[in-house]
Amino acid sequence: MANFLEDNEDLKFYLEKYIDWEPLVRLVEYDFKMNDGFESNEEATEFYNDVLNMVGELVANEIAPRAKAIEENPVKMVDGEVVGSPEFNAIFDQINEVGLHGLCLPRELGGMNAPLLVYMLAGEMFSRADVSVMTHHSFHGGMALAMLLFSVMEGSTEIDLETMTMKTTRFQKEIEEIITGQTWGAMDITEPDAGSDMAALRTKAEQDEDGNWFVTGEKTFITSGHGKYHFVIARSEETKDSDDPFAGLAGLSFFLVPLWEDTPEGRKHYGRVDRLEDKIGHKNSATCAMVFDHAPAQLIGKRGEGFRYMLFLMNNARVGVGFESLGVCENSLRLAKNYAAERRSMGKTIDKHEMIAEYLEDMDTDTRSLRALGVHAAYHSEMAQRSQIALLAKAYHNDTEKSRYELLYKRHLKEARRVTPLLKYYGSERAVYMARMCMQIHGGVGYTKEYQAEQLLRDALVLPIYEGTSQIQSLMATKDVLLNILKNPKDLVQGIAQAKWRTLSARDPLDKKVAKLQALCLGAQQTLLTRMAAKKFRSLSNHKVVDWASKFFKEWDAKKDFSPALLHAERLTLLLTDAAISELLLEQATRFPERRELLERFLEKAIPRAEYNSSLIATTGDRLLDTLDDTPAQLGEKQVG
Ligand SMILES: Cc1cc2nc3c(=O)[nH]c(=O)nc-3n(C[C@H](O)[C@H](O)[C@H](O)COP(=O)(O)OP(=O)(O)OC[C@H]3O[C@@H](n4cnc5c(N)ncnc54)[C@H](O)[C@@H]3O)c2cc1C
Repeated sequence: MANFLEDNEDLKFYLEKYIDWEPLVRLVEYDFKMNDGFESNEEATEFYNDVLNMVGELVANEIAPRAKAIEENPVKMVDGEVVGSPEFNAIFDQINEVGLHGLCLPRELGGMNAPLLVYMLAGEMFSRADVSVMTHHSFHGGMALAMLLFSVMEGSTEIDLETMTMKTTRFQKEIEEIITGQTWGAMDITEPDAGSDMAALRTKAEQDEDGNWFVTGEKTFITSGHGKYHFVIARSEETKDSDDPFAGLAGLSFFLVPLWEDTPEGRKHYGRVDRLEDKIGHKNSATCAMVFDHAPAQLIGKRGEGFRYMLFLMNNARVGVGFESLGVCENSLRLAKNYAAERRSMGKTIDKHEMIAEYLEDMDTDTRSLRALGVHAAYHSEMAQRSQIALLAKAYHNDTEKSRYELLYKRHLKEARRVTPLLKYYGSERAVYMARMCMQIHGGVGYTKEYQAEQLLRDALVLPIYEGTSQIQSLMATKDVLLNILKNPKDLVQGIAQAKWRTLSARDPLDKKVAKLQALCLGAQQTLLTRMAAKKFRSLSNHKVVDWASKFFKEWDAKKDFSPALLHAERLTLLLTDAAISELLLEQATRFPERRELLERFLEKAIPRAEYNSSLIATTGDRLLDTLDDTPAQLGEKQVG
């Protein structure tokens, strides 16, 4: 029987050998003190293995063979109702039957209490089978989990410290409806005039005299928006500082809005799907334009905290897109490899022609590199999130336990922040590239509907757009590293010196090469800072020399002074990603010598790529920036999209 886990040695490497499960399992199972919980790491990981094996079989045998039928019979509107294809609905009946909507939800709510990391690994396999199914699936368990996390954040979940289970949680009814497959949730952020620029959101939230909230406005591009529960971000306060483009973020609040309610008199609708977007891919994932007209809403957290809650939601979603991208890469690679092994040209199969052989090897290297980054990001992100949840829910018995959670939170949050935008950026861009190469390797038939290559490319193209575009991810990654350097400039100088020293002194030639890549990446950051400073100095030429020091150090204008960094953000992100992946693969190669070959292959291309990007950062941009100098542009704390 086909199995997308069993046939993937690289994925099994992480599951069986690489992932350090114990610390995560301890967080998930509250040190094995939970009622009805697992009693050991071994017991828990055996269960995760079984679940992933079950998913591997389900997606390979029930979803992948239906991918074409799903694609050819897209979701549509019939008499104002959104209707999925029969094949799609049948798949969701099966997913529901095996209880996968509750994969990461606590047992006391009917879930399996598995880590999010297991969900992400399953997500890759779902996406390899069909992206529409993966996407819609994530709006079930993912949204139920978000309800639980939000309730913990705002303090409306209570933990019983005796049994380490939940006593009460605010959205229990809604969560149970979702994990039993009766409905699902949606994430309503984007509006016709506000996508990346969230400060421009206009959907209004108002309170009546009794304190009840109501939401009015339009939301566009809402995935699975025909579900009952909508997380809606809406403006509850007016913008105070009209000169600050980010001021609008402070006036946003976060709401749960049911699209309908079933009453004894029948179903009462509070909002509606106005239309479905006619997309080029993801054909069975409904993308809805929503209208809310004075819809009753439940405020989550406090007013004005909408942006904070939204970031929390988006963080997991971005890691999720990383794994979705990985599934597309894996599928592209396999389709291309199989076709190239059969198609003959000029006396041999095309996989034996030099260029095609190189494409296939690069696709394999990049898919496995992406998996290394994905697993790393998911692990740190979950370790940070679980320890934060334990702190917020006061799920500790004494100060020692509390300090342990604080330490874990701090340590893992830093790493999660560093790698999450890199994963979203790199994964989605690689998926597009690989789907395109898959089509190219198929030649003429790749451009026909007979083969899946063209569908993969159409499906992949949205990955760099949703959950924060590639440009927004680059700005976030760039902002984080540069602001950190401005806070601790010594770290950069030391980092460069250490990396250069290792290029000379390291014993392992691969370690030397990784150090070279790190030196290039740090050097590019230094170049950017130097260019920003030089630009600032140039702008001071109209001022008296005695004023230069104070103007230089105190009067930084984010609108102009950061522009070299904004221009080169994508290049820097590529450098940061190459450096991060090489560090991970080096660590793997040190522990598992059989992984050295992967690192060697990765570095072969990554070093020249880094030299190229560094050179562009150092030598280009001034001319264009001079033409833009009057245009406001920001390296803000708060770019999200
Ligand atoms: C299939 C699909 C599903 C979606 N699902 C959801 C969903 O479930 N919920 C939801 O709320 N939204 C959803 N979206 C919306 C998606 O998140 C937005 O399309 C995305 O955030 C970009 O916003 P925009 O379309 O308004 O583009 P814009 O923000 O107008 O951006 C246009 C271009 O300008 C670039 N750009 C913008 N600002 C900057 C800047 N400061 N510097 C450099 N470049 C910049 C962008 O990167 C992009 O290339 C979905 C979209 C699609 C296509």
